Amino acid sequence: MNLVDKSKKHLWLPFTQMKDYDEHPLIIESGEGIKVKDIYGKEYFDAFSSVWLNVHGHRKQELDEAITAQLGKIAHSTLLGMTNVPAADLAEKLVSLTPAELTRVFYSDSGAEAVEIAVKMAFQYWQNIGKTQKQKFISVKNGYHGDTIGAVSVGSIDIFHAVYGPLMFEGYRTPVPNVYRYPGESPDKCRDESLKSLESLLEEEHENIAGLTIESMVQGAGGMIVMPEGYLSGVRQLCTKYDVLMIVDEVATGFGRTGKMFACEHEAVSPDLLCAGKGLTGGYLPVAVTMTTEQIYEAFYDDYETLKTFFHGHSYTGNQLGCAAALENLRLFEQDDIVGLVADRSVYLQRLLTEFTELPHVGDVRQLGYMCGIEIVLNKKTKEPFPFESRTAYKASLKMRELGLLTRPMGDVSVFMPPLVSTKEELREMTEIMKEAIEKVTVEEAERLEQAGI
Ligand SMILES: *Cc1c(COP(=O)(O)O)cnc(C)c1O
Repeated sequence: MNLVDKSKKHLWLPFTQMKDYDEHPLIIESGEGIKVKDIYGKEYFDAFSSVWLNVHGHRKQELDEAITAQLGKIAHSTLLGMTNVPAADLAEKLVSLTPAELTRVFYSDSGAEAVEIAVKMAFQYWQNIGKTQKQKFISVKNGYHGDTIGAVSVGSIDIFHAVYGPLMFEGYRTPVPNVYRYPGESPDKCRDESLKSLESLLEEEHENIAGLTIESMVQGAGGMIVMPEGYLSGVRQLCTKYDVLMIVDEVATGFGRTGKMFACEHEAVSPDLLCAGKGLTGGYLPVAVTMTTEQIYEAFYDDYETLKTFFHGHSYTGNQLGCAAALENLRLFEQDDIVGLVADRSVYLQRLLTEFTELPHVGDVRQLGYMCGIEIVLNKKTKEPFPFESRTAYKASLKMRELGLLTRPMGDVSVFMPPLVSTKEELREMTEIMKEAIEKVTVEEAERLEQAGI
């Protein structure tokens, strides 16, 4: 059987309607720099960093070598009750890069696990210190934290999560400050209203609330919603005031993506728990972390008989190959000043993105660093979206694929999340492809709808 047939016959892909895959199969064989190549030799820009992971491009020699060097020693041993060399080195490095209060690193293999762990830690923290009533979580509407049941319980994207409703634990939701959809589009008012709503919830319920989960500065999967200035720090103040643990999800935003090492630095926010993953290994291997404070750590530190242990772990927690890749990735961040590059080039990227706003069906363009979303609407004046069935952004992504660029939309939002090493020239080439595809597909779809009288 040929590869395409094999893939159609035996694979079941994540977040994929397999009927779509069967119509548009794609098998990647190799990658080099910011491009990947399929089995027929066609090359594509990796304009979404292989779903928001890639930093230095593919086949980065130093990363390849760091993994090979680690392989010469050992591939994996457990972290249950013992540790290993790169896991210890990486923990020290991560503590030095994150806000000063974060001193402890708990490893896992994916962003969802990192969030799951943070939620369980926050819950057990209050149990361990005897404030047993604090059991509930507040999460931000439209948020996304991964796909395990705990992470889904603090998530709230209906289209992904509604079906699992009966499986989820109950919690509170607080509105997201979505400026584009806020009447008058006033960022300050939108922020203040959202914070006010959060405060009245906290005022009433804080005695029952263990923690609050929030993506850092930008809601990623929710459509690249960039939070207005002062919102994240406002949430921090409220969490402190009402004695609620703040769990900041930096899985998408961490490691340079927004032009800071961590997005919470934009507002000098220091969370009680911080989750990171995605870019941690440069897009090479599955390692994620939940970081926390000495105060929370100490609430679990006691004689075994007290049963305050954090009873959670995974087979591959602290995997040496992954930790070695992460260490080399972070060394390259410093050597090549990746964060500085992104901060600098994202000013140029902003200019390129402004051109999208001239397209007839682009309603909003949102950006923080190299994290960008282009919202497609049927009517720019009324902000009326295309009908759900049109799948306009999906069709645009297929057009981009044809033109040699890969990305994956979220609803009506086209995503641009290029590898962090992308140069100005590459940014320009990629955005030109995206612009051409979005214009062509949206205009055609709008005409089709008009002719059909919809
Ligand atoms: C991707 C993502 C996750 C989930 O990470 P996985 O590694 O896919 O489990 C969690 N939170 C945010 C904000 C993400 O973008």
